[in-house]
This record gives sequence, C-alpha cells and structure tokens, in this order.
Amino acid sequence: MDRDNMSKPLVMVVEDEAALVTMLRYNLEKEGYRVCEAVDGEEALTVLAERNPDLVLLDWMLPILSGIEVCRQIRRKPRTRDLPVIMLTARGEEGDKVRGLNTGADDYLTKPFSLPELLARVKALLRRVRPNQSKGALQYEAIVMDLTAHRVTRAGRSIHLGPTEFRLLQFLLQHPGCVFSREELLNAVWGPDIYVEPRTVDVHIRRLRKALNGEDETDIIRTVRAAGYALDAEGAMV
Ligand code: CA
Repeated sequence: MDRDNMSKPLVMVVEDEAALVTMLRYNLEKEGYRVCEAVDGEEALTVLAERNPDLVLLDWMLPILSGIEVCRQIRRKPRTRDLPVIMLTARGEEGDKVRGLNTGADDYLTKPFSLPELLARVKALLRRVRPNQSKGALQYEAIVMDLTAHRVTRAGRSIHLGPTEFRLLQFLLQHPGCVFSREELLNAVWGPDIYVEPRTVDVHIRRLRKALNGEDETDIIRTVRAAGYALDAEGAMV
C-alpha cells in the first residue's frame, strides 16, 4: 500500500439508494478521497469499526437501523465521538433537521442536494477536524511526526522508524488514547485486503516501543490485555 494513498481521507457513504452511492463514490474519488460504503445502519456500524473513516455521509432513512440511531452510536463511543457526520435527508423532513443536529450530526443536507455544496461541506468539515494533518504534522505529548519530511522526534530527539512502524504510529497519533484491537490495527495500517497474522502487530508494536522509548522515558504505548493497544501518556501495562 503506498503512503500517499493512506494519507487520503476516507469518507464512508451510508446510503441505501444504489444510484446515489455510485454518484457519490465517483465524485468523492474524483476529489481525491477514498470511499467505503454501507447500505444499512447495521452494516454502517461494522464498516465503521473495520475501516475507521475520517468522515461519514449518513442517510436518514436506512433499513434495519436508522441514520439517527447510527449517529447516536457514533457519538456514544469514545473512539468515534469526534467523527464528523453529515446527515442526508429527503425534502419535507425539515423537522428532522433539529433532531438530526440534536443527535450529534455536524452538518445536514436536504436531498436533492447540490453536489458542489456537498463537496464543499465535506472539505470544510475535514479541514476543521484535521487541522494538524493539513499542516503535515501530528503531535502527542513530546512526540512529533512531520508528515511532509517523514520525520519523527520525541522531546527533540530524532526517532528512526521502519515504514510499517511509521504508519502504525501515524494511525495511533491520529487517535490518541483510543484502544485498538490487533484486527483493527491490521485493517487500518495494512489495509483490509491484506492477510497478515494478528501477531505481526505485536512484533511491530515492540519495534515501535523500542524506537520511541529512550532510557528513563515513559512507555507511551499502553497494552490493554485481551483488547489491544493505545497511545497513552499514562503508559505502562495494565
Ligand atoms: Ca434512504
């Protein structure tokens, strides 16, 4: 997987109208986004956990689980609490707008919407939530990742990382404090189409730890037994 591709924001389209999904995917990809899809509310929650999207376009009326309920669940989980959500709804459901925003959607568009307007809102919302990424730097505590120069430092000390450790750290820096299972890390860092033994994650976490933690420095990666790993200044094993 090439690094440029990984750095493109991933937009999840949750919509049961196939024609609309096709149109959205085509135009979002043309704008340089990666796209993943779900056709009902239940699938939305599964895809959400597997792919960790950067933004969700969420249809209001969905089979199995409504957009409202999906949005509620997104806001309830610490990992997705700040995930930008744009709600899509049919004209005439204006009263729902208030409910949608109350449920935690960041923005709201009425169908049929104008495509340039949708793309503008996606762009604006991503810029708002990923300010560091647009500047090409990620930071957590004393760790700074310069995405442009592809360089990592801890308290000013230069850290040398292999390409996989770099991507792993990049992902953890994007979600500080969140616990990810080995499977989730595999999906996010290696990609869902690549088969790798879950234990491979442990090997790369070990290398990342060794590179990051100097003498007398706190272990910045927390191991959560039976759950996974998290970037956490409290550090240590639990
Ligand atoms: Ca629908």
